[in-house]
Order: sequence, then structure tokens, then C-alpha cells
Amino acid sequence: MPAIEGVSALIERLVTEFRGVHAVLFYGAEGAGMDEAARKLAQGWLCSEPIEARSYDCSVCRAFDSGRMVDFHVVRPWGPSSMIKLDAWRPPPVGRKPDEDAPKPTLIEFLRTPPLMAKHKVVLLEQCDRMNHDFSNALLKSLEEPPPYVRMILTTSEFSRLLPTVRSRCMAVACPSLVPSEPSEMERVLGGSPGLLAKIRASLDAYEQVWRVFESSLTAPWFASIVLADQTRDAAESLAKSQKSNTRAGQVEAARCLAAWLLARRPERPDLAKSAIEVHKFLVGNVNAGASLDWLWSEILAK
Ligand SMILES: [Zn+2]
Repeated sequence: MPAIEGVSALIERLVTEFRGVHAVLFYGAEGAGMDEAARKLAQGWLCSEPIEARSYDCSVCRAFDSGRMVDFHVVRPWGPSSMIKLDAWRPPPVGRKPDEDAPKPTLIEFLRTPPLMAKHKVVLLEQCDRMNHDFSNALLKSLEEPPPYVRMILTTSEFSRLLPTVRSRCMAVACPSLVPSEPSEMERVLGGSPGLLAKIRASLDAYEQVWRVFESSLTAPWFASIVLADQTRDAAESLAKSQKSNTRAGQVEAARCLAAWLLARRPERPDLAKSAIEVHKFLVGNVNAGASLDWLWSEILAK
């Protein structure tokens, strides 16, 4: 699988060549190998052997393998809310009891001193989309200008939930899925071919937004057509953004999806799918998109 080899090769280069990069974000679908990639990079940054001749069997690597590497610190969400909170960053203010379950030491304490054994101090933030606002703010400063011996690795399966300010301070590395997962209902209905399915998976959030709008129409009152048309246009805009295309291309794709959705979910009304296909054609022909969507949704909701 060339794509996975691609990530490994990149990790190798991050360790040996791109030494100016101090924060890397691995993202991908759940189970896509982010944890593996993160640990590989962490070890590469920690290992104390000379870069040209590494056996990955030095005392640092052995400590890392056995989970006793003092210069490596993992922070992951904790507690009932499953969030990463400020208690992972600094000790509680005087007078407040420390959160027992928060990772120890705090990051401030961990980052304050240079590494004891390893080449760098490495922080791994797992599921970093679960950082709360206060923690994110505290982290941003360190991501910007960490002490020279600090390296940070972030992982997430929810890339779109990350603050743009966090994303932009890291080198983002996509981890491709190892196993192509079973298509969801949305993917089956909207993605009839392997090419379409790949396109949907590359813009999953936007397609899910489209799908939610369509599904909500099943219980919508007749007078909601204007709202649904607006929401469809918003979703089409998300598609356009995610696919780096223009508004009309987004609306054309939304209309294609609506036709596919109507065929699958409103089989008792083949006339509606037919109308959607007509609207799709209008949009391709560059006719005013807004009005045709309004009209289509009022047809769909009319009893
Ligand atoms: Zn080593």
C-alpha cells in the first residue's frame, strides 16, 4: 500500500531532515493508524543514537518500548466528559483540589526542564479534538514557540473539529485507512460507484450535512420548504468549500445527491426524483439555482 509507506517515509524524513518541524498532527478515520504513526515519530524524536546509524535498540528506545520513557508524556481525554482540560496543563490554583484523574505531571511541569535521557521531550496529545477551550488556548502558545528541546504530536479522527489555529500551527499528516470500511447508508445511497464513494469520503463532513438536511425533510411540515432550501444551499456551500469548487458546482452536486436520496428514501414518489434530476440539469446549465431548489423542496413537502 503506497499511501501507508508514504506516511512511514515522511516520519523518517521528519526525524532526519525536516528538523525545523516541532509539531505534527496525524489525522484520519478511526483505526487508520494514527497511534502507530505517532509512536513511530515519538521514538524517532526521542532516540539518542546518531541519526545516521540507528539500531532503535538504545537505552532510550528500550525504555520507550517498555513504557518507562521519562521524556515522553501522553495526554488523552479523561473523566466522564472525556475532555482534555486545563488540569492537564497546570497545577490547580491554590485552594482547589487537584483533579485526581488528570494526567501527571502537568504539561507545564513536564516541559519546564530539558530531557533527562532522550534527544527531545515529546508530548503526545491523543484525540486532540477533545481539548477544551482553556487547554487549547494554553497549548497554542507552546505550539507557536516551544522550548527548543520540545516536540509535539497530536492525533485526531475528527480533523474538522479542530480549531484552525491549532491546525495551522502543526504539520498535518493524513493517515489513510488501512482497511476500507463498510459504506454507511449515506455512502451507499449517495455514492453509487467507487469513484463517488472516494469523493464522499474525502468530504465526509459536508456530505453528512447534506444527508442530515434531506433526512430532516421526512418529518418536516409542508411549510418548511424555504428552510430546507436554505439548508440545502448551506450544505452545498460546504460541499463546494470542501471540494475547493465554486457555489454552483456545490449546488449541482447537492442536487445530484437529492435525486439519489429521493430514489432511495421516497420510492413511492418516483416523480420527485425525476424533478430533482431536472433541477440537476438546470443547475448544470447554469440556470438560477436558488429558485429551482425552493421549487423542488415545495414539491417534495407538498402532500
Ligand atoms: Zn534509540
